[in-house]
Amino acid sequence: MQQEVTQVQIPEILPILPARDTVIFPRMVLPLMVREEKYIRLIEDSLKTHKMLVVSMVKDPEKTYEGVPDMYEVGTACQILRFTKGPDAALIMVQGIARVRIMLMTAIEPYPQARIERLEEPDYKDKEIEALMASIRSVYKQIVEISPHLPPELMHLIDTVDKPGTLADMSVSSINIDRKKQQKILESVDLKERLKQALLFLNEELEVLRIGKDIQDKVREGIDKSQREYYLREQLKAIQRELGMKDEMAEIEELREKLKKKKLPDHVREVAEKEIDRLSRIHPSSAEYPVARTYIDWLLELPWMESTEDNLDVKRARKILDKYHYNLEKVKKRILEYLAVRKLNPEHKGPILCFVGPPGTGKTSLGRAIAEALGRKFVRVSLGGIRDEAEIRGHRRTYVGALPGRIIQGIRKAGSNNPVFMLDEIDKIGLDFRGDPASALLEVLDPEQNYAFSDHYLEVEFDLSKVMFITTANQLDPIPAPLRDRMEILELTGYTEDEKVNIAKRFIIPKQVKEHGLEGITVQFRDSAIRRIIREYTREAGLRNLEREIGAICRGIAIKVAEQDKDSRKFVITKNRVQEYLGKPKFTLDVAERTSTPGVAIGMAWTPTGGEILFIEATIMPGEKSLVLTGQLGDVMKESAQIALSYLRSRAEQFGIDKDFYKQHDIHIHVPAGAIPKDGPSAGITMLTALASLLLNKPVKPFLAMTGEVTLRGLVLPVGGIKDKVLAASRSGIKEVIIPSDNKNDLDEIPAHVRKELEFHLVKKVEDVLKIALP
Ligand code: ADP
Repeated sequence: MQQEVTQVQIPEILPILPARDTVIFPRMVLPLMVREEKYIRLIEDSLKTHKMLVVSMVKDPEKTYEGVPDMYEVGTACQILRFTKGPDAALIMVQGIARVRIMLMTAIEPYPQARIERLEEPDYKDKEIEALMASIRSVYKQIVEISPHLPPELMHLIDTVDKPGTLADMSVSSINIDRKKQQKILESVDLKERLKQALLFLNEELEVLRIGKDIQDKVREGIDKSQREYYLREQLKAIQRELGMKDEMAEIEELREKLKKKKLPDHVREVAEKEIDRLSRIHPSSAEYPVARTYIDWLLELPWMESTEDNLDVKRARKILDKYHYNLEKVKKRILEYLAVRKLNPEHKGPILCFVGPPGTGKTSLGRAIAEALGRKFVRVSLGGIRDEAEIRGHRRTYVGALPGRIIQGIRKAGSNNPVFMLDEIDKIGLDFRGDPASALLEVLDPEQNYAFSDHYLEVEFDLSKVMFITTANQLDPIPAPLRDRMEILELTGYTEDEKVNIAKRFIIPKQVKEHGLEGITVQFRDSAIRRIIREYTREAGLRNLEREIGAICRGIAIKVAEQDKDSRKFVITKNRVQEYLGKPKFTLDVAERTSTPGVAIGMAWTPTGGEILFIEATIMPGEKSLVLTGQLGDVMKESAQIALSYLRSRAEQFGIDKDFYKQHDIHIHVPAGAIPKDGPSAGITMLTALASLLLNKPVKPFLAMTGEVTLRGLVLPVGGIKDKVLAASRSGIKEVIIPSDNKNDLDEIPAHVRKELEFHLVKKVEDVLKIALP
């Protein structure tokens, strides 16, 4: 049969059918779809005669050709076996007969025809050919084996092909080899060459398939693996769930164990036992579980019965207080008395100490020193801004996220039931609809009640009677009276510049040097540098900012040490170097310069942070008899200004002031921010002095500060806050102060060394003030 086909006679001229993507080998039977009308006609014409045509592949199947496409020279002469015509295409079944070469196009229209030459194929076998054939068969079989789309029957089929040329043709045409490679095989007439070429292509194909399979396998393996992992993970979860339950069981056992070991008052133990029982019945995933768990933790963590032993060695206490604090004799003495009394009568419930003073005056550090002296723990809780009673007494547990109040939290932090417990800023607790925190605080502080303090969260009472409470405040006035009554007030005033220099040298600098890891390095601050920091970088009664600025310099030094050569082991901070570390000065307070023009007087104002001096300025300008006031002025201060003006107008002649000064002028008085409104009247004499200075065109005596209220008749009335005011003046370099003579007694409170530095003028009348201020 095969013999027959290839022996068919081929005409010299045949029509040429371009095939887009098909190579037909001799003996192969293949269907072809034809759509173009002229090629359908070609087929129809051919069917009328020899029923033959040449199929040749188009070189570039992507390209659209007008006319005859560019085809390969070698094609296959085919016999049409069947023809079916549909509405817009025809299907033919063809069988390849022989390789042909297209020699010459004889027609293009209506379809291409050419003179062709039949390519005779050699057919013989030798060892090499046999070897090549065997190789082809073997590679081919491997390809069929791993290729998922090829039917396995092909493996047997290949064995039945005996002719070497046909084997080459069949092996490349029956598998999905690239068409161009197939064309190459078609063009190879030489037998060995064709076999070699085919083997090469098959090997390439096998390689590609293998790589593909490898990838496939890996992907599959990946899928299998992830699936396996998924199952394992699910199993693990199940196991964990099992174990998890056991964990919770263990947790409850642990809690029971803890409870057994913990020293607890009976009533607390009972509650804790009940709660642990309850916990064991709650499902661990329920929302209630962590709530119950947290509560048990609180019960078990609080130091119900743990206390530290007091050290009542008064001498040692003295040493410790001195170690950390300069001066403060009165306060230290009182603290030591307190300890001495305790030593003699441990049951004695001394009063609660309340340190009152501006920030940074050592309240906290005294508290710490007391704790250290007594050998107690120290905790500090700020009450500033508390408006809600629950902050002190806790929220009921029915609240979401409820916790005990700050007192119980502090106790837990301390870890003992007798710490030194500092309640900061009790002057800043408020009161509103959520209850009165001050009265809750009363219960905390009252020794008659605090042995059974009840926190809303805990519900079981806690004994606070062993706690040593110390409170602090900046101001005395805002402290609610019932609270104040229960406390012994110890006042800490601000420090003078000399004291600050001393404290800086002896305490703050060594502490900061140590904290910044500069111990191996010599760091020296010149006194003049410390003074400059105090004057130009801070403005405070206490030491906070001074400490901060010194800290900043230490940081600067630390950076230099870290960055630089090792020989810079010595740093001397001079007055001029300060700016190098701290930048531009924050305050410049040139008292002499500012008061050198008429119309400026220095007042002393009281502030919660320890008092300040104020420059009150007055000026006059053409206008219509109005008094303009600017700056931070309360109503009271405005009244004082009005009184001062009226007083001067009524006594103009007496003081030698033009009596018509007010007729065609406006007066403007400016009081800078700083003072508090309540302190308003005390600026009376200062405003009056500034005005008089202006109207007399005479500067006020330099380095003089004053405070006092004025009446219309020219009396100077006493004012509050003398001590803080005087200290502020002394800090600012003031040399003389004027105060109402009725404030004479307040001078006793002023530290002796400050009193020595300043000259005091006690005045009764405005005339006296002006005599001193405008001599
Ligand atoms: P307060 O609690 O009054 O605001 P701090 O106790 O925090 O102030 O004091 C601020 C800093 O000043 C601390 O570093 C403290 O050690 C230091 N200090 C305050 N007063 C003195 C003092 N008399 N002697 C030594 N250091 C002091």
